[in-house]
Amino acid sequence: FFAKPWVFVRGVPALKFLPPEGPPEVAFAGRSNVGKSSLINALLGQKGLARTSNTPGRTQELNFFVPDGFGTPEAGLPPIALVDMPGYGYARAPKEQVDAWTALVFDYLRGRTSLKRVFVLIDARHGIKPNDEEVMTLLDKAAMSYQLVLTKTDKIKAPAVETLIGETLQRIRKRPAAFPSLIATSSEKGQGLDDLRAAILAQAV
Ligand code: GDP
Repeated sequence: FFAKPWVFVRGVPALKFLPPEGPPEVAFAGRSNVGKSSLINALLGQKGLARTSNTPGRTQELNFFVPDGFGTPEAGLPPIALVDMPGYGYARAPKEQVDAWTALVFDYLRGRTSLKRVFVLIDARHGIKPNDEEVMTLLDKAAMSYQLVLTKTDKIKAPAVETLIGETLQRIRKRPAAFPSLIATSSEKGQGLDDLRAAILAQAV
């Protein structure tokens, strides 16, 4: 399934451009530079599919990806789409851009029945930052199930990863929509990718 080629379907700058509700979707969110495009590309084994989001002023779009042959019976796939959400927390983003991000994302989260889970990416070197807290609050308010994914775990030592996992789970304990376990990944080393693939596929039913 993940070995198949995946294709970019469309970028959605406003809700009216969303594809019709249909097969399940999972979305990826995270601060700019968290390693989101690297993770999506590693997950799908395709370099350059998801593009980096840390360019200032880059169009804020929800980018939809599906396995090639999506929707055709002969593909025989458990149909699921991946949605790359625009990165947040870019230090110099103007307020209008932040507001536009929040409006687009909140409306999408609240109104989209096809969306089954959001994976919120957290840089293992930094842990949860205030704007990650804001996004989790948004997700809790929208009653949208989410799961944290640590990225770039190769950048810190294994015992530090264990400590971070414990601290992070403690911090989300009281959050109603947070899934009570997290996935530690490194796109560079391929670590945790199978766990993440399994978590995605579990949403495809
Ligand atoms: P995005 O802005 O969230 O899409 O982040 P990118 O995927 O563009 O990654 C930001 C930077 O982090 C790039 O320089 C990547 O090479 C680096 N990076 C991403 N994932 C990893 C990882 O797993 N390990 C290491 N060491 N670096 C990573």
